[in-house]
Amino acid sequence: MAQGEGIVVIGAGVVGLTTALALLERGHRVQVRAESIETPPASWAAPAMFTPYPGPEEGLRRRWTESAFAALARLAREHPESGVVMGPLRELFHAPREIPEWSASLLSIRPIAAAPPLVQAHDSLRPVIDMVRYLPWLRDRVVARGGVLQERRVDSLDAVLREGFDAAVLCAGTGSGELARDPRVRPMHGQVAHVPNDIGLDHSVHDDGPGGHTTYVFRFSDRLVVGGTFEANRPAVGTDPAAIEAILERGRTMLRLDGHPRWSDLGSVVLEARGAARPTRGAAGVYEDVRVGPDPEHGRRLIHHYGHGRQGATLSWATSTEVADLLGGSLHAA
Ligand SMILES: Cc1cc2nc3c(=O)[nH]c(=O)nc-3n(C[C@H](O)[C@H](O)[C@H](O)COP(=O)(O)OP(=O)(O)OC[C@H]3O[C@@H](n4cnc5c(N)ncnc54)[C@H](O)[C@@H]3O)c2cc1C
Repeated sequence: MAQGEGIVVIGAGVVGLTTALALLERGHRVQVRAESIETPPASWAAPAMFTPYPGPEEGLRRRWTESAFAALARLAREHPESGVVMGPLRELFHAPREIPEWSASLLSIRPIAAAPPLVQAHDSLRPVIDMVRYLPWLRDRVVARGGVLQERRVDSLDAVLREGFDAAVLCAGTGSGELARDPRVRPMHGQVAHVPNDIGLDHSVHDDGPGGHTTYVFRFSDRLVVGGTFEANRPAVGTDPAAIEAILERGRTMLRLDGHPRWSDLGSVVLEARGAARPTRGAAGVYEDVRVGPDPEHGRRLIHHYGHGRQGATLSWATSTEVADLLGGSLHAA
């Protein structure tokens, strides 16, 4: 149970809010402190689909993916108002892709026919997380359970710890790199376009290429989100019209390959464009070396929880549960 001033969670993106909920569920007193409460950059810009990417360690990846899937599937079942539903995703591949057996089973993957230039395709069923609805739902739930949301920038972790909290959890996305002095955090910018589903698309579609340009059209109850880009060295937040038009063009090509009769009408109206940097962590082709664990100097008084890259919406329940497990015992033991 909580002692002293409780726990401060730094960051109000999908990772920070989920951490706060996991801690509130264990009876802790929780304050969420963030530079931006309502527009946490990566979570605000994400569509988001349950998309497990390979991580640095296969066993850990499997454990997190299975536990996150179970948590999101339960939300879809018990709280459809959260914006999480189970939905169909079709994946198209220009290069062969090996799917681990456990992943194929978890996602109900069914191979389908693929005509050139595709070499492989399959349908699957997985959590679809409408971030436009999910983030406010998470915030409301944190507050309903007694959590406090405070919009305030943090410049020093030591200064926060001196305020008398039992523990701090660092969930500041790309901001974590500077706060934790972790050079492995790298912002990778992504852009998407929100468009009406005026073409009657009844499933989401994802394409692995060609040329490394991942393209997707994710279907939500009131719109489609077309993406995306993956770029270093761009300003943290923002979009540009040429990139958005190129994304829509790739989306049309993808829907043509998928055989959709109205592929050429995709994105004739753009409702909104969003773009922000993802908090990737790693080196040499690794983007999701998520850091979950106590700080080497402060022990369990400071827990690191960041670096979710392209998978924050996907993995947040799994990694937040690990944080809550870490803080479940005596808070002051290292
Ligand atoms: C275009 C795009 C598409 C994506 N698609 C998917 C997808 O389909 N599926 C999926 O799982 N993931 C997807 N992602 C990735 C996902 O969005 C991220 O992994 C996730 O949002 C990271 O969440 P976060 O809470 O760590 O960071 P953020 O959402 O960026 O939140 C960081 C929080 O920390 C706060 N903060 C930062 N610095 C400080 C500071 N110094 N002091 C106080 N507060 C601070 C911010 O204000 C904010 O509240 C996508 C991302 C993008 C950009």
